Amino acid sequence: MLEEIEDKEEKIFVFRDIVEIRIPKKDYERLIRRHKRDYIVSTYENKRILNRVTGRELVFVSRESGIPLLGHSAFGIIDRGTNLLQVRCISGCNLNCIFCSVDEGRNSKTRKTDYLVDPDYLLGELKKIVELKGDGLEIHLDAQGEPALYPYLEYLVEKVSKIKNVEVISMQTNGILLNEKRISAMEGKMTRINLSISATTEEVAKRLHGAYPVQKVLEIAELIANSKIDLLIAPVWVPGYNDDEIPKIIEFALKIGAGKRFPPLGIQKYVPYRFGRKVGKSISFREFYEKLKLLEEEFGIKLILKPEDFGIERRPTIPNPFKRGEICYGRVVAEGRVHGEKLCISKDRSVAIISDKKIGEVVKFEVLRIEDGIIVGKGF
Ligand code: SF4
Repeated sequence: MLEEIEDKEEKIFVFRDIVEIRIPKKDYERLIRRHKRDYIVSTYENKRILNRVTGRELVFVSRESGIPLLGHSAFGIIDRGTNLLQVRCISGCNLNCIFCSVDEGRNSKTRKTDYLVDPDYLLGELKKIVELKGDGLEIHLDAQGEPALYPYLEYLVEKVSKIKNVEVISMQTNGILLNEKRISAMEGKMTRINLSISATTEEVAKRLHGAYPVQKVLEIAELIANSKIDLLIAPVWVPGYNDDEIPKIIEFALKIGAGKRFPPLGIQKYVPYRFGRKVGKSISFREFYEKLKLLEEEFGIKLILKPEDFGIERRPTIPNPFKRGEICYGRVVAEGRVHGEKLCISKDRSVAIISDKKIGEVVKFEVLRIEDGIIVGKGF
């Protein structure tokens, strides 16, 4: 399971293609005389653990770490007050799209740390929350990045499909890391895959994503459409970049039979976010919906979607122990998702706090945001 490589300075152990454990060579060579490799890898204290895809520090979120799965936007469980729970198992992406709302990929300028959640810890916590939320739930696997990078994806989907009250399992993906074997493993358990395809033409795809295997992604789309898993193609419409691609994507989705139970397309509007990448000019939502309406008439399909089209309804949220403006204390447990931020624990929640405190220190902070159970604070 552990691939072993090295560079000039370090021994590098790669676990499941995603986790890189780096140990200085001189220490490893001294230790290997007395200990087995696996013992060194698990016990050596000053190892660096990186996300192999993004090159960033990777924090393993397990029950033992004590890091709660509620409260953070980069990992864990997000409850926005409906019968859908977002589950984020891993952060980081294998692409660097020019329109990325979370500035993801190896070229990111804002992201500092990635997180990977232990699947059994996640399942245990998810079951507790599912109990509180009632029946007819959708578990949506998404990420600040690419969920298919999660090395336990198939295991997680299998286990989640057995949880009482879970009716739908869906996931977001750019599709590149999927293949026939992975799709078959999820058949009969995963209900729908939302596959992002924003261009079918090589040249446009290259402008949007850089290196990008268009043909492979189109084949993955067909594979999904021909499996028991429903397919929704979800392009991001970036004005001035892929305007001519959108009708082509609609034609492609209809041709391959996307949308067996749910709508075949979920066209998203490009929105420039504060910590996302900015590209070209963004149009207003009004203009966006007018364009979709014209396409609806042209193709005779529904493109302006509502939560009801996916069976989403309002539900009480899990109580939030914080109030905006409140002054609280927390403990720094890891580096934060973005530069200048720390991951802290407070009131049994993971909190992103702007602070220069070190790991292990206590931080006093003001709560800045609490929406959707995601807590952000500013340290003093
Ligand atoms: S838009 Fe999606 S696929 Fe592209 S870099 Fe961002 S997270 Fe990755």
